[in-house]
Amino acid sequence: EPIALAQLIHDVCTSFEYTIHKTNVQISLQLDEEIIIFADYDRLEQVIRNLLDNALRFTPAGKKITITLQSQANEVKLSIHDQGSGIPKADLPAITERFYRVDKGRTRKDGGTGLGLAIVSQIIKRHDGTLTIESTEGIGTSVTIFLPTNISEQSYPFG
Ligand code: ATP
Ligand code: MG
Repeated sequence: EPIALAQLIHDVCTSFEYTIHKTNVQISLQLDEEIIIFADYDRLEQVIRNLLDNALRFTPAGKKITITLQSQANEVKLSIHDQGSGIPKADLPAITERFYRVDKGRTRKDGGTGLGLAIVSQIIKRHDGTLTIESTEGIGTSVTIFLPTNISEQSYPFG
């Protein structure tokens, strides 16, 4: 189905309004409002929700999360950048594996199960997109997604 990506991002941010307010993290949106892509709405919502959930969880009060959305050639580039704890270099290669978490000692109430990025990665793959995670410990994390704008109707619905 055709999806107005910027609207979807606004809606996900609205659903996190309470957490954003409570954590005192600033969200900066730089979105091309015109972008429409042909994809699975619920899955893309899941992607944005998971990535924003991570950014909010690992970013301390007073810091900023920036979400940018732009189109280039036949692709859409979506990036979520945070000024949070970052991911240690040694953990980066395995970070999209199921149940992988940097702090294995933490319990469910401090975090999640380690499934978020595995799900995100799989959804992006199924949309013929790419996912890159760049991170520096103590500085922050950038998750960048490229999605083709011209996903054909045959390739959906997924799974
Ligand atoms: P779930 O998403 O299932 O609730 P989770 O958030 O722990 O649990 P993932 O989303 O897969 O699982 O993330 C895996 C791990 O990667 C996290 O536990 C955390 O250690 C690290 N991580 C993910 N995103 C960030 C981020 N933006 N900043 C710092 N660390 C991150
Ligand atoms: Mg997560």
